[in-house]
Amino acid sequence: MEKVTSTEHKMTESTYKCGHCGIDARMFIVCEGEHTITDNDSDGDVWFKDLYQLLLCPSCNSINAIKTSYDHETAPIDWEGNYDDVVVEYLFPSIKSGNFKNLPSRVEKSYAEAIKLKKLEPRASVVSSRKLLEAICDDKKASENDRENIQVKINNLAEKEKFPTLLRDAAHSIRLLGNKGAHEPDAEVSVDDAETLLALCDAIIVYVYEAPQLVQRIQERLKNSKREA
Ligand SMILES: [Zn+2]
Repeated sequence: MEKVTSTEHKMTESTYKCGHCGIDARMFIVCEGEHTITDNDSDGDVWFKDLYQLLLCPSCNSINAIKTSYDHETAPIDWEGNYDDVVVEYLFPSIKSGNFKNLPSRVEKSYAEAIKLKKLEPRASVVSSRKLLEAICDDKKASENDRENIQVKINNLAEKEKFPTLLRDAAHSIRLLGNKGAHEPDAEVSVDDAETLLALCDAIIVYVYEAPQLVQRIQERLKNSKREA
């Protein structure tokens, strides 16, 4: 058998948030490259530099692609040649929790937990996804009594037409696998299970919290453009 060797990589100076496991850590630089644009026509040299990096997370061993933009005009350089301000963009994977802007704090907290644990402790992650679902049920007043059983809460939301049939089924799937994670120590829970539940949580979050805001935004935009016409 061939001998497996590991490569020594330099680490980043600052910390990055891993899009796979959620940890905030300095990462191994697997490779990097710069793209620079120079413009000598204006008075001073105006130039922009983008640094692309493939970073390996020390915690979950997954790859994150990062773009760091240095802009000579918008980010002043101090006397040591360091930039005051740079823009960091996560190209892969895009960090979802940052993309959802309208989550109640209890929902957001369980969501962040489920993401953070999905690779390292998938069993704990599916339990967090179930907690997330329960937080959504309570936020949407699924029952007069918050201590009501979650199965009843989901069915109540479906009856009140807050969940269409497909999302009701998604919610029950999260509930059942979350129960397995919480109460059946011998049941196997895989990374794929944890990721699938997170994808279902995404679908519910988009439907319940994000889509209504986006629809409103477009409706307002259409109203304004009618006024201008
Ligand atoms: Zn990671």
